[in-house]
Amino acid sequence: MSDPATNGKAVGGSKRPADGPGDGTRAVRAGLPEPVKHEPTLPGPVFAAHFHLPGDPTGPYTYGRDENPTWTHLERAIGELEAPGQDDVETLVFASGMAAISSVLFSQLRAGDTAVLPDDGYQALPLVRAQLEAYGIKVRTAPTGGNAQLDVLEGAKLLWIETPSNPGLDVCDVRRLVAAAHARGALVAVDNTLATPFGQRPLELGADFSVASGTKQLTGHGDVLLGYVVGHDTTAMTAVRRWRKIVGAIPGPMEAWLAHRSIATLQLRVDRQDTTALKVAETLRRRPEITGLRYPGLPDDPSHEIASRQMLRYGCVVSFTLPSRAHADRFLDALRLVEGATSFGGVRSTAERRGRWGGDAVPEGFVRLSVGAEDPDDLVADLLRALDVAGG
Ligand SMILES: *Cc1c(COP(=O)(O)O)cnc(C)c1O
Repeated sequence: MSDPATNGKAVGGSKRPADGPGDGTRAVRAGLPEPVKHEPTLPGPVFAAHFHLPGDPTGPYTYGRDENPTWTHLERAIGELEAPGQDDVETLVFASGMAAISSVLFSQLRAGDTAVLPDDGYQALPLVRAQLEAYGIKVRTAPTGGNAQLDVLEGAKLLWIETPSNPGLDVCDVRRLVAAAHARGALVAVDNTLATPFGQRPLELGADFSVASGTKQLTGHGDVLLGYVVGHDTTAMTAVRRWRKIVGAIPGPMEAWLAHRSIATLQLRVDRQDTTALKVAETLRRRPEITGLRYPGLPDDPSHEIASRQMLRYGCVVSFTLPSRAHADRFLDALRLVEGATSFGGVRSTAERRGRWGGDAVPEGFVRLSVGAEDPDDLVADLLRALDVAGG
């Protein structure tokens, strides 16, 4: 098991584990099959609802809802990035992040079980909670910050962690929560969407599942919905696989192929975007109209101490609060290089006033900014100009 703390800070540079190639090398090679003469390096998407299958129906490829060769390549790629050198992990790709999240929760929990969720996580988690409760599963919630989920673990079957949390960017101590959960016999899943596997490797921190939306920075172009689950507990993963089969929450081959193609540039994108995010945060903190600025990479951020012990990079999302809803709207309208859009992690910067959705417990002027791959100076200039317009 490698300890991120001993590998040095990787923000702005490529991280090279002591025992293998660096992140850039791993990204461009992830999941590639052995070269075959006259075949492309990354085989194209296989469009098949069913496969030739005379005689006894043996795998791997029988019916398109169960397996597809394009998924297989992508699953290998994600597994290599989430758990380098761990050959015993299994990866399953899904139609979306929510399909992946639901597959873990609904395959592992039964009526009467208790699950612990964050109360400040992804905005669809309250919907998931209502559905779990409708099936007789008890749900407790606590905030991500301060490791508050530790206090509600007694008797739980599964602990769900989202760190850094979206959109508040609080961070919890994954190793500590895992130790406490495992001591009580609970499984632990970590939503790794915001960090990406180049920002955090939950399985090395002890988690049973790393789950993520590949819709965000993993694929990074805002054109694909995808989700995945990585785990090494065979029994648990068999149940997750069965859930995918019975619910049919599968990615299309085209989406899976686009995702794999996009992963080749993951190291370039996270280095550029995460480095610029730090620069943006350092710039925004000097503006008097901004309060509640959060970025785990800022040395005095409340999340920084824990983040620096378990993360390899700090992500591309910066959040902050402007004095009012009107002020935030003026700021967003004035931006030229930052698109008004939800979601995050894309190569084009996006921002939104999170309160417009009504789900998150955030102030009206709260803005979630996703830093893209534009030139840092251009982006900083655009943000400062828009702040001046909004304030003037
Ligand atoms: C977007 C997101 C999800 C859901 O992913 P989809 O691909 O939109 O289904 C889950 N968790 C986090 C933290 C997210 O940001």
